[in-house]
Amino acid sequence: MDKDKEPRQRETEAVRAGHHRTAEGEHSEPLFITSSYVFANAEEAAARFAGRERGNIYSRNGNPTVRIFEERLAALEGAERALATASGMSAILAVCLGLLRAGDHIVASQSLFGPTVALLQMLARFGIDTTFVALDDVDAWRRACTKHTRLFFLETPSNPLSVLGDIVALADVAHAAGARLVVDNSFCTPILQQPLALGADLVIHSATKYIDGQGRGLGGAIVGSEALIGGDIFLFVRTAGPVMSPFNAWIFLKGLETLPLRMEAHSARALSLSLWLEDQPLVEEVFYSHLPSHPQYALARAQQSAGGGVLAFRLRGGRKEAFAFIDASRIMSITANLGDTKTTITHPATTTHGRLTPEARAAAGVGDELIRISVGLESLEDLKRDLEGGFAAVRACG
Ligand SMILES: *Cc1c(COP(=O)(O)O)cnc(C)c1O
Repeated sequence: MDKDKEPRQRETEAVRAGHHRTAEGEHSEPLFITSSYVFANAEEAAARFAGRERGNIYSRNGNPTVRIFEERLAALEGAERALATASGMSAILAVCLGLLRAGDHIVASQSLFGPTVALLQMLARFGIDTTFVALDDVDAWRRACTKHTRLFFLETPSNPLSVLGDIVALADVAHAAGARLVVDNSFCTPILQQPLALGADLVIHSATKYIDGQGRGLGGAIVGSEALIGGDIFLFVRTAGPVMSPFNAWIFLKGLETLPLRMEAHSARALSLSLWLEDQPLVEEVFYSHLPSHPQYALARAQQSAGGGVLAFRLRGGRKEAFAFIDASRIMSITANLGDTKTTITHPATTTHGRLTPEARAAAGVGDELIRISVGLESLEDLKRDLEGGFAAVRACG
């Protein structure tokens, strides 16, 4: 990032940041499909390997197209540095293996993406233990700290029930305990929420979700200070190799160009559908952070500029009714993915949360009657008609 540049609005950074035009004068960002780079002479090679000179060496250490994506994402999060990874999960792994050692302790939200929970549990084999606590119970985070606690990890809003973690409050608790706060910002993206400005130390992204936004590729990123990322986290990624492919980086950086517009459109549609669903007789309860009925509505307004695209609701009935509702859809895709221009509909209890024990599922509030929708960019009118078909199918069940 050019520090001496005039400050630019995010819409401008989304379109412009990170691209330093080459001598070819290309308008769109260039795609460098190359695994290695050539040096002008042996002396230059030696200087680059010794770190005396900046420049390309090998694409596990860095690639020009991936760097455009990293610079653009860092500009959007208001951060010094972003580091792209092969997936959201490998971004989380890199943070843990870069910053932690055997004997360290993590406090994490109990409402996390399923594979994130599994990954944190795997770390126990290497002597890194995790205590899982309720996302919205700040005292529980404080009580869970030990003298070995080094990391707090959370997602906000949670999936699928849109529970919020108070980033400002949890950053204070983490720092008082000598720990760092890591926020997985995949649901809000920097367009709706900027955890670093609220006190978080690192942000994680699954670029696979809204940053791509069109379901084309896997990728992830870690965002934060140069001091934190440029040391052991970068060393882990460039050594172990969970790097983003240049082709995926090119897709994601084009995704970033439309991210402000898409997040606004996803959020507007999701809020409108949430309000409409609250009025439906067959709906028991709707979960969406920017609904005035949300128990943390004030916090939602303070820390996120809009609600994002994911909502959930409890249907009157059980699994039979939920399946009938889902199967009646003519437009929405039945898939567990989210953050796409295409609206997706999911039954969390048997898919994303299917591996939990029934008790853990009940504790997470994920019952058989719960349905999650990731609202895409189709016409709101068509989506409502599709959902009306679902309600008709549920009535036919009874
Ligand atoms: C999908 C997802 C991940 C994992 O990302 P991948 O790119 O699939 O590895 C992590 N966190 C959240 C919140 C996600 O939705």
